Amino acid sequence: MLLLAFPVLSQTENFSRLPITREAWKKPFPAYRVVGNLYYVGGYDLASFMITTDKGHILVNTGVYDSVDGIKKSVESLGFSFSDVKVLLSMQAHWDHVAGFAEIKRMTGAKLFAHRADAPVLESGGVHQFFNSDPLKFSKRFGGAVFEPVKVDRRLKHGSTIRLGNTKIKLHHHGGHTKGASTFTFTTRDKGKKYKVAIVNMGSVNTSRGVKLTGMRLFPNIAKTYRRTFKRQNRLKFDIWVSSHASHFNMHDKVKPSDKYDPKRFVDPQGYRVKIELYEKRFLDTWQKEKTNLISRDD
Ligand SMILES: [Zn+2]
Repeated sequence: MLLLAFPVLSQTENFSRLPITREAWKKPFPAYRVVGNLYYVGGYDLASFMITTDKGHILVNTGVYDSVDGIKKSVESLGFSFSDVKVLLSMQAHWDHVAGFAEIKRMTGAKLFAHRADAPVLESGGVHQFFNSDPLKFSKRFGGAVFEPVKVDRRLKHGSTIRLGNTKIKLHHHGGHTKGASTFTFTTRDKGKKYKVAIVNMGSVNTSRGVKLTGMRLFPNIAKTYRRTFKRQNRLKFDIWVSSHASHFNMHDKVKPSDKYDPKRFVDPQGYRVKIELYEKRFLDTWQKEKTNLISRDD
């Protein structure tokens, strides 16, 4: 029982700040309105979204630690108050999307909601990640957790509903990239027109982190989970889509900082199809290659 052998990290315990090596993760981007009550408040590549309601706001993803200041400034630049953020939603428990949750919680008192399969990762500051087969060795190497551990206030599952004020958001479990990777959908209005919005977590595979699709001790059904995710993403219905990285939804082709508000920029079903087919193909190629290697090793 590896989990029991490892002490549970509290919020005050040590964590290290992984060096941010990608320029696009540090670079800011001006906040803008996507559609209706959905706003982009993230950086140049790490996407954070704010969904405003009449009872406070919902913030999706935080980027890295250094992103928190930028998110706060973005929220304020749109004329909203950061202290009105009431709910935090996590799309995938990788440090580049969640490292700021603990700090934002302290600043706003907001509650964090996440898929239950990602909760142990968030609460251990990234130590209980399925590709860390030896958490003790891992935390020794990084001097503790790799982001500040944060308590998950509500554990969600496929089909869970998140309600705040006049907004109702649905969680779709799109696991694989992390065990609890999630997509969120909700309906918004603009000039009397209804739009169904999907904030989609793409099914990319972290082969550089040693992820193996033919089975991992801490995630034995990884391939099955990915396949179900692609099936679900193929059937997903929406009018407008965005994603957890700007590059995933081709944001820089769609948005220039000086552009005027226009929801039609994000009506892009063809772009979505191309993206999910690309990730599914990469998944199948990687999986096939692994299986071939396994067979030849047995020979
Ligand atoms: Zn990730």
